[in-house]
Amino acid sequence: MIDLRSDTVTKPTPEMRRAMAGAEVGDDVYGEDPTVNRLEARAAGILGKEAGLFVPTGTMGNTIGIKIHTHHGEEVICEARSHVFNYELAMMGWFSGCLARPILAEDGILRWSQICKEIRPLGPHWAPTGLIEIENTHNMAGGAVSPTSVVNEICDGAHERGLNVHMDGARLFNAAAHLGRPASELAAKVDSVMFCLSKGLGAPVGSMLVGKADAMDRARLYRKRLGGGMRQAGVLAAAGLIALEQMPARLHDDHANARFLAEGLSRIEGLSIDPSKVQTNILFFDVTGTGLDSGQFSKGLKDRGVLANPVGPASIRMVTHYDVTREQCETALGACQELARQAMPHLTGVVSKN
Ligand SMILES: *Cc1c(COP(=O)(O)O)cnc(C)c1O
Repeated sequence: MIDLRSDTVTKPTPEMRRAMAGAEVGDDVYGEDPTVNRLEARAAGILGKEAGLFVPTGTMGNTIGIKIHTHHGEEVICEARSHVFNYELAMMGWFSGCLARPILAEDGILRWSQICKEIRPLGPHWAPTGLIEIENTHNMAGGAVSPTSVVNEICDGAHERGLNVHMDGARLFNAAAHLGRPASELAAKVDSVMFCLSKGLGAPVGSMLVGKADAMDRARLYRKRLGGGMRQAGVLAAAGLIALEQMPARLHDDHANARFLAEGLSRIEGLSIDPSKVQTNILFFDVTGTGLDSGQFSKGLKDRGVLANPVGPASIRMVTHYDVTREQCETALGACQELARQAMPHLTGVVSKN
């Protein structure tokens, strides 16, 4: 099977497995796991923040990231298709007692000009804004990268109003690879960042939350409350260190494969995608022209050895990652072409649409 469902499916590399087997460990709830401590310090250093916290999942990292900046009864401004709003089981409501104030940004990139109009003071009818949340890269906007100037403008505006900014940087290193800039520069002004070790960076488990030292001290208590106080977690952190140190440098391969897939898909009659919009390792294409819905198209691909998830009634998402080669991308394109051709027997196959 060629698995293009997500970059979460990557398996730990042989080097990660060796590091896990040999990891020096201790009880991390006592703060005594040297490998976890090293990972937290390195993550903070690489992101240019004071301190870091190793968490089991990105969802826990975002949940804590929202909690440390907000009070119950506040609003969190976020993009309408953001992960925190749509895919985290309403944790900002359940755990932090906050209401999302979603704003649609067509390209997934929130801008200060939109955000500033939605900031609310406490009033007889309003819940005050407690936090601004931005997602970089933006998953459901096709891996879109927020320009650093846009992020900085949001942070400057927010800070002037006494508000903090949390970045869901699940794929921040993909954004950094696309921009060719260090991740610390992309996150220089945000107050906290969550990023995943377990996606494109290939670690089996784990995400990082980084920010100010006092905020991370409080974050550590929330992690324990949520059941994330792990003991000899150095076994996991050892893989995380390799993910952090070595894997960012190869993300451009995934980006090149995603662009290759997008260009191939754009040449298949019945499918529609703008390859110029594919910046990182995520792409969406529309299957309406084939006469199939996305569920049927996804099933047809599975029958041909390719896994890709339907997202919405007409759209399929593909994600490239460490365990997908260029040859597998070529095979996947062949499967898409065969499927589209079978669905539209009146056509001969590849037709230039432009
Ligand atoms: C994957 C992801 C997360 C966190 O996911 P977990 O599965 O909980 O690790 C958060 N935000 C975005 C944008 C993601 O893609």
